[in-house]
Amino acid sequence: MNQTTKPWIDLRSDTVTLPGPAMRAAMHGAGVGDDVYGDDPSVNRLQDYAAELFGYEAALFAPSGTQTNLIALLVHCARGDEYLVGQEAHTYKYEGGGAAVLGSIQPQPIANQPDGSIALADIAAYIKPDDMHFARSRLLALENTIGGRVLGAEYMAAATSLAHARGLATHLDGARICNAAVKQGISLRAATAGFDTVSVCLSKGLGAPVGSLLCGPRAFIEQGKRWRKMLGGGMRQAGLLAAAGQHALEHNVERLADDHANAAALAQGLAQIAQIKVATPQTNIFYVDVPEAAVDALRAALTQADIKATVGKHTRLVTHLGVTAADVEHVVAVFTAFFKDWQAAT
Ligand SMILES: *Cc1c(COP(=O)(O)O)cnc(C)c1O
Repeated sequence: MNQTTKPWIDLRSDTVTLPGPAMRAAMHGAGVGDDVYGDDPSVNRLQDYAAELFGYEAALFAPSGTQTNLIALLVHCARGDEYLVGQEAHTYKYEGGGAAVLGSIQPQPIANQPDGSIALADIAAYIKPDDMHFARSRLLALENTIGGRVLGAEYMAAATSLAHARGLATHLDGARICNAAVKQGISLRAATAGFDTVSVCLSKGLGAPVGSLLCGPRAFIEQGKRWRKMLGGGMRQAGLLAAAGQHALEHNVERLADDHANAAALAQGLAQIAQIKVATPQTNIFYVDVPEAAVDALRAALTQADIKATVGKHTRLVTHLGVTAADVEHVVAVFTAFFKDWQAAT
Protein backbone atom coordinates (compact mmCIF):
# COMPACT_ATOMS: atom_id res chain seq x y z
CA MET A 1 0.00 0.00 0.00
CA ASN A 2 1.20 3.48 -0.80
CA GLN A 3 2.05 5.06 2.55
CA THR A 4 1.02 8.60 1.73
CA THR A 5 -2.24 8.33 -0.21
CA LYS A 6 -5.61 8.08 1.44
CA PRO A 7 -8.33 5.60 0.71
CA TRP A 8 -11.03 8.04 1.80
CA ILE A 9 -11.84 11.71 2.32
CA ASP A 10 -11.46 12.35 6.02
CA LEU A 11 -13.22 15.41 7.44
CA ARG A 12 -13.16 14.30 11.09
CA SER A 13 -10.13 16.31 12.14
CA ASP A 14 -6.88 17.86 10.96
CA THR A 15 -5.10 15.34 13.21
CA VAL A 16 -5.57 12.74 10.46
CA THR A 17 -3.03 14.37 8.13
CA LEU A 18 -0.37 11.99 6.85
CA PRO A 19 3.30 12.90 6.35
CA GLY A 20 4.05 13.32 2.64
CA PRO A 21 7.21 12.31 0.79
CA ALA A 22 9.17 15.50 1.60
CA MET A 23 8.40 15.24 5.31
CA ARG A 24 9.32 11.55 5.29
CA ALA A 25 12.60 12.40 3.56
CA ALA A 26 13.34 14.98 6.27
CA MET A 27 12.64 12.36 8.94
CA HIS A 28 14.80 9.80 7.16
CA GLY A 29 17.77 12.14 7.08
CA ALA A 30 17.41 13.49 10.63
CA GLY A 31 20.38 13.49 12.98
CA VAL A 32 19.42 11.98 16.33
CA GLY A 33 20.73 11.57 19.88
CA ASP A 34 19.29 10.98 23.34
CA ASP A 35 17.07 13.97 23.98
CA VAL A 36 16.75 13.27 27.71
CA TYR A 37 20.49 14.08 27.81
CA GLY A 38 19.83 17.06 25.54
CA ASP A 39 21.84 15.34 22.81
CA ASP A 40 19.35 15.22 19.96
CA PRO A 41 20.42 17.78 17.34
CA SER A 42 17.07 17.71 15.52
CA VAL A 43 15.07 18.29 18.72
CA ASN A 44 17.43 21.09 19.77
CA ARG A 45 17.16 22.69 16.35
CA LEU A 46 13.36 22.52 16.37
CA GLN A 47 13.12 23.97 19.89
CA ASP A 48 15.45 26.87 19.01
CA TYR A 49 13.66 27.47 15.72
CA ALA A 50 10.22 27.50 17.36
CA ALA A 51 11.31 29.80 20.19
CA GLU A 52 12.56 32.30 17.61
CA LEU A 53 9.52 31.89 15.35
CA PHE A 54 6.94 32.41 18.10
CA GLY A 55 8.97 35.05 19.95
CA TYR A 56 10.04 33.28 23.16
CA GLU A 57 13.34 32.56 24.92
CA ALA A 58 13.01 28.79 24.79
CA ALA A 59 10.81 25.90 23.70
CA LEU A 60 10.21 22.28 24.70
CA PHE A 61 9.20 19.42 22.39
CA ALA A 62 6.67 16.98 23.86
CA PRO A 63 4.57 14.07 22.57
CA SER A 64 1.20 15.84 22.59
CA GLY A 65 -0.64 19.12 23.06
CA THR A 66 -2.39 17.70 26.08
CA GLN A 67 1.04 17.27 27.64
CA THR A 68 2.38 20.72 26.69
CA ASN A 69 -0.78 22.32 28.09
CA LEU A 70 -0.53 20.23 31.27
CA ILE A 71 3.15 21.09 31.72
CA ALA A 72 2.29 24.77 31.34
CA LEU A 73 -0.48 24.54 33.95
CA LEU A 74 1.79 22.62 36.33
CA VAL A 75 4.55 25.23 36.08
CA HIS A 76 2.26 28.26 36.24
CA CYS A 77 0.09 26.96 39.08
CA ALA A 78 0.88 25.26 42.37
CA ARG A 79 -1.41 23.11 44.53
CA GLY A 80 -4.45 25.17 45.49
CA ASP A 81 -4.01 27.68 42.70
CA GLU A 82 -6.61 28.11 39.99
CA TYR A 83 -6.67 28.97 36.31
CA LEU A 84 -9.42 30.90 34.56
CA VAL A 85 -10.50 29.08 31.41
CA GLY A 86 -13.38 28.89 28.94
CA GLN A 87 -16.10 26.27 29.40
CA GLU A 88 -15.42 25.11 25.85
CA ALA A 89 -11.63 25.14 26.17
CA HIS A 90 -9.61 22.04 25.43
CA THR A 91 -7.54 22.51 28.61
CA TYR A 92 -10.73 22.41 30.67
CA LYS A 93 -13.07 20.10 28.78
CA TYR A 94 -10.98 17.69 26.76
CA GLU A 95 -7.87 16.90 28.79
CA GLY A 96 -9.33 14.50 31.33
CA GLY A 97 -9.12 17.00 34.18
CA GLY A 98 -5.36 16.47 34.18
CA ALA A 99 -4.53 19.73 35.95
CA ALA A 100 -6.84 18.79 38.84
CA VAL A 101 -5.81 15.13 38.92
CA LEU A 102 -2.07 15.63 38.66
CA GLY A 103 -1.53 19.17 39.90
CA SER A 104 -4.30 19.81 42.45
CA ILE A 105 -5.03 22.87 40.32
CA GLN A 106 -8.62 24.11 40.37
CA PRO A 107 -10.14 25.26 37.11
CA GLN A 108 -12.43 28.30 37.15
CA PRO A 109 -14.45 27.70 33.99
CA ILE A 110 -16.17 30.74 32.44
CA ALA A 111 -18.80 30.74 29.68
CA ASN A 112 -17.41 31.39 26.22
CA GLN A 113 -19.12 34.08 24.16
CA PRO A 114 -20.56 33.06 20.76
CA ASP A 115 -17.33 34.30 19.14
CA GLY A 116 -15.26 31.99 21.36
CA SER A 117 -13.84 34.74 23.57
CA ILE A 118 -14.29 35.13 27.31
CA ALA A 119 -15.85 38.51 28.09
CA LEU A 120 -13.32 40.85 29.71
CA ALA A 121 -15.89 41.71 32.39
CA ASP A 122 -16.20 38.01 33.23
CA ILE A 123 -12.43 37.62 33.49
CA ALA A 124 -12.27 40.61 35.83
CA ALA A 125 -15.20 39.36 37.90
CA TYR A 126 -13.85 35.81 38.34
CA ILE A 127 -10.40 36.83 39.56
CA LYS A 128 -10.59 36.21 43.29
CA PRO A 129 -9.20 38.53 45.93
CA ASP A 130 -6.39 37.35 48.20
CA ASP A 131 -8.47 35.69 50.89
CA MET A 132 -7.91 32.35 52.65
CA HIS A 133 -11.39 31.21 51.62
CA PHE A 134 -10.50 31.27 47.95
CA ALA A 135 -8.19 29.41 45.66
CA ARG A 136 -5.42 31.69 44.41
CA SER A 137 -6.28 33.00 40.92
CA ARG A 138 -2.99 32.46 39.16
CA LEU A 139 -3.45 32.08 35.42
CA LEU A 140 -5.65 33.02 32.48
CA ALA A 141 -5.69 30.30 29.80
CA LEU A 142 -7.13 31.14 26.37
CA GLU A 143 -7.38 29.11 23.17
CA ASN A 144 -6.91 30.24 19.55
CA THR A 145 -8.43 29.13 17.29
CA ILE A 146 -11.32 27.82 19.40
CA GLY A 147 -13.85 25.63 17.56
CA GLY A 148 -12.40 27.08 14.35
CA ARG A 149 -13.08 30.67 15.46
CA VAL A 150 -10.33 33.27 15.56
CA LEU A 151 -9.80 35.48 18.60
CA GLY A 152 -8.47 38.74 17.18
CA ALA A 153 -5.20 40.36 18.19
CA GLU A 154 -7.02 43.31 19.75
CA TYR A 155 -9.04 41.09 22.08
CA MET A 156 -5.94 39.07 22.98
CA ALA A 157 -4.06 42.25 23.88
CA ALA A 158 -6.92 43.46 26.07
CA ALA A 159 -7.41 40.10 27.82
CA THR A 160 -3.71 39.51 28.52
CA SER A 161 -3.21 43.10 29.72
CA LEU A 162 -6.13 42.72 32.09
CA ALA A 163 -4.75 39.44 33.45
CA HIS A 164 -1.24 40.84 33.91
CA ALA A 165 -2.54 44.00 35.56
CA ARG A 166 -4.33 41.79 38.10
CA GLY A 167 -1.21 39.71 38.75
CA LEU A 168 -2.15 36.67 36.69
CA ALA A 169 0.09 34.89 34.20
CA THR A 170 -1.20 34.05 30.71
CA HIS A 171 -1.10 30.80 28.73
CA LEU A 172 -2.29 30.31 25.17
CA ASP A 173 -3.46 26.91 23.98
CA GLY A 174 -2.30 27.61 20.45
CA ALA A 175 -2.94 24.14 19.07
CA ARG A 176 -4.07 25.96 15.90
CA ILE A 177 -2.43 29.34 16.44
CA CYS A 178 -0.90 29.13 12.95
CA ASN A 179 -4.42 28.99 11.49
CA ALA A 180 -5.33 32.08 13.52
CA ALA A 181 -2.21 33.95 12.35
CA VAL A 182 -2.63 33.03 8.67
CA LYS A 183 -6.31 33.98 8.77
CA GLN A 184 -5.51 37.41 10.22
CA GLY A 185 -2.47 37.94 8.01
CA ILE A 186 -0.26 38.56 11.03
CA SER A 187 3.05 37.02 12.10
CA LEU A 188 3.21 34.10 14.52
CA ARG A 189 4.91 36.44 16.98
CA ALA A 190 2.04 38.91 16.73
CA ALA A 191 -0.48 36.09 17.20
CA THR A 192 1.16 34.98 20.47
CA ALA A 193 1.90 38.49 21.79
CA GLY A 194 0.84 39.06 25.38
CA PHE A 195 1.08 35.40 26.40
CA ASP A 196 3.77 34.28 28.82
CA THR A 197 3.61 30.78 27.35
CA VAL A 198 2.10 29.11 24.30
CA SER A 199 1.47 25.50 23.32
CA VAL A 200 1.54 24.75 19.58
CA CYS A 201 0.46 21.48 17.92
CA LEU A 202 2.58 20.19 15.06
CA SER A 203 0.28 17.22 14.48
CA LYS A 204 -2.85 19.09 13.38
CA GLY A 205 -3.06 21.09 10.16
CA LEU A 206 0.72 21.47 10.06
CA GLY A 207 0.83 17.80 9.13
CA ALA A 208 3.50 16.31 11.41
CA PRO A 209 2.72 12.79 12.68
CA VAL A 210 3.35 13.52 16.39
CA GLY A 211 4.36 16.36 18.65
CA SER A 212 3.71 19.72 20.25
CA LEU A 213 5.87 22.58 21.46
CA LEU A 214 5.67 24.63 24.63
CA CYS A 215 7.29 28.05 24.27
CA GLY A 216 8.11 30.41 27.13
CA PRO A 217 10.81 32.02 29.26
CA ARG A 218 14.00 29.92 29.64
CA ALA A 219 13.58 29.32 33.39
CA PHE A 220 9.96 28.26 32.82
CA ILE A 221 10.97 25.79 30.14
CA GLU A 222 13.67 24.35 32.42
CA GLN A 223 11.00 23.67 35.06
CA GLY A 224 8.76 22.28 32.34
CA LYS A 225 11.45 19.78 31.42
CA ARG A 226 11.23 18.26 34.92
CA TRP A 227 7.46 17.88 34.61
CA ARG A 228 7.80 16.42 31.12
CA LYS A 229 10.12 13.73 32.47
CA MET A 230 7.75 13.02 35.37
CA LEU A 231 4.80 12.73 32.98
CA GLY A 232 6.66 10.21 30.86
CA GLY A 233 7.27 12.62 27.99
CA GLY A 234 11.07 12.40 28.00
CA MET A 235 11.76 10.79 24.63
CA ARG A 236 15.10 9.46 23.44
CA GLN A 237 15.96 9.63 19.71
CA ALA A 238 13.01 11.95 19.16
CA GLY A 239 14.79 13.77 16.35
CA LEU A 240 12.94 11.60 13.83
CA LEU A 241 9.73 13.25 15.02
CA ALA A 242 11.28 16.69 15.53
CA ALA A 243 12.47 16.65 11.91
CA ALA A 244 8.88 16.19 10.81
CA GLY A 245 7.86 19.11 13.01
CA GLN A 246 10.68 21.24 11.61
CA HIS A 247 9.50 20.47 8.08
CA ALA A 248 5.93 21.32 9.11
CA LEU A 249 6.87 24.74 10.50
CA GLU A 250 9.06 25.55 7.49
CA HIS A 251 6.66 24.41 4.77
CA ASN A 252 3.11 24.02 6.01
CA VAL A 253 2.17 27.28 7.72
CA GLU A 254 1.32 29.54 4.77
CA ARG A 255 -0.55 26.75 3.01
CA LEU A 256 -3.13 26.72 5.83
CA ALA A 257 -4.81 29.42 3.72
CA ASP A 258 -5.68 26.63 1.24
CA ASP A 259 -7.47 24.73 4.01
CA HIS A 260 -9.41 27.86 4.91
CA ALA A 261 -10.37 28.36 1.24
CA ASN A 262 -11.46 24.72 0.98
CA ALA A 263 -13.56 25.06 4.14
CA ALA A 264 -15.18 28.20 2.70
CA ALA A 265 -15.91 26.42 -0.60
CA LEU A 266 -17.32 23.39 1.21
CA ALA A 267 -19.55 25.58 3.38
CA GLN A 268 -20.76 27.53 0.34
CA GLY A 269 -21.62 24.35 -1.51
CA LEU A 270 -23.44 22.85 1.47
CA ALA A 271 -25.30 26.11 2.13
CA GLN A 272 -27.27 25.46 -1.09
CA ILE A 273 -28.95 22.50 0.61
CA ALA A 274 -32.22 23.65 2.18
CA GLN A 275 -32.48 21.03 4.93
CA ILE A 276 -29.22 21.85 6.70
CA LYS A 277 -27.88 24.97 8.37
CA VAL A 278 -24.25 25.75 7.64
CA ALA A 279 -22.08 28.05 9.74
CA THR A 280 -19.65 30.34 7.92
CA PRO A 281 -16.14 29.05 8.58
CA GLN A 282 -13.44 31.41 9.75
CA THR A 283 -10.64 28.86 9.38
CA ASN A 284 -10.60 25.10 8.70
CA ILE A 285 -13.30 23.93 11.13
CA PHE A 286 -17.01 24.57 10.92
CA TYR A 287 -20.33 23.06 11.95
CA VAL A 288 -23.42 21.99 10.08
CA ASP A 289 -26.78 21.51 11.78
CA VAL A 290 -28.41 18.35 10.45
CA PRO A 291 -32.05 17.37 11.12
CA GLU A 292 -32.01 14.66 13.76
CA ALA A 293 -34.09 12.34 11.61
CA ALA A 294 -31.44 12.48 8.86
CA VAL A 295 -28.36 11.86 11.00
CA ASP A 296 -28.10 8.06 10.79
CA ALA A 297 -28.88 7.89 7.09
CA LEU A 298 -26.44 10.71 6.30
CA ARG A 299 -23.70 8.95 8.24
CA ALA A 300 -24.35 5.77 6.27
CA ALA A 301 -24.41 7.63 2.94
CA LEU A 302 -21.09 9.33 3.67
CA THR A 303 -19.50 6.05 4.75
CA GLN A 304 -20.80 4.45 1.54
CA ALA A 305 -19.08 7.25 -0.41
CA ASP A 306 -15.78 6.79 1.51
CA ILE A 307 -16.21 10.07 3.37
CA LYS A 308 -15.39 10.11 7.07
CA ALA A 309 -17.00 12.79 9.22
CA THR A 310 -18.23 13.25 12.77
CA VAL A 311 -21.91 13.22 11.83
CA GLY A 312 -24.50 14.30 14.36
CA LYS A 313 -27.10 16.99 14.90
CA HIS A 314 -24.12 19.30 15.12
CA THR A 315 -21.83 17.88 12.45
CA ARG A 316 -18.22 19.04 12.54
CA LEU A 317 -16.32 19.31 9.28
CA VAL A 318 -12.57 19.92 9.13
CA THR A 319 -10.36 20.60 6.12
CA HIS A 320 -6.60 19.98 6.08
CA LEU A 321 -3.71 19.17 3.79
CA GLY A 322 -5.23 15.80 2.95
CA VAL A 323 -8.38 17.40 1.52
CA THR A 324 -8.25 18.83 -2.00
CA ALA A 325 -10.57 21.21 -3.85
CA ALA A 326 -11.74 18.19 -5.90
CA ASP A 327 -12.54 16.35 -2.66
CA VAL A 328 -14.64 19.34 -1.60
CA GLU A 329 -16.66 19.17 -4.83
CA HIS A 330 -17.19 15.45 -4.32
CA VAL A 331 -18.38 15.93 -0.73
CA VAL A 332 -20.82 18.66 -1.79
CA ALA A 333 -22.16 16.35 -4.51
CA VAL A 334 -22.65 13.47 -2.08
CA PHE A 335 -24.44 15.71 0.47
CA THR A 336 -26.60 17.24 -2.26
CA ALA A 337 -27.63 13.87 -3.68
CA PHE A 338 -28.35 12.53 -0.21
CA PHE A 339 -30.65 15.39 0.76
CA LYS A 340 -32.42 15.29 -2.59
CA ASP A 341 -33.33 11.65 -1.93
CA TRP A 342 -34.04 12.27 1.74
CA GLN A 343 -36.41 15.08 0.80
CA ALA A 344 -38.18 12.77 -1.63
CA ALA A 345 -38.46 10.01 0.97
CA THR A 346 -39.90 12.22 3.73
C1 LIG B 1 -5.63 18.89 19.63
C2 LIG B 1 -5.69 19.94 20.63
C3 LIG B 1 -4.87 19.94 21.75
C4 LIG B 1 -3.88 18.84 22.06
O1 LIG B 1 -4.28 17.60 21.69
P1 LIG B 1 -3.32 16.32 21.59
O2 LIG B 1 -4.15 15.39 20.84
O3 LIG B 1 -3.04 15.92 22.98
O4 LIG B 1 -2.06 16.72 20.88
C5 LIG B 1 -4.96 21.00 22.63
N1 LIG B 1 -5.80 22.01 22.40
C6 LIG B 1 -6.60 22.05 21.33
C7 LIG B 1 -7.49 23.22 21.12
C8 LIG B 1 -6.58 21.02 20.41
O5 LIG B 1 -7.38 21.07 19.35
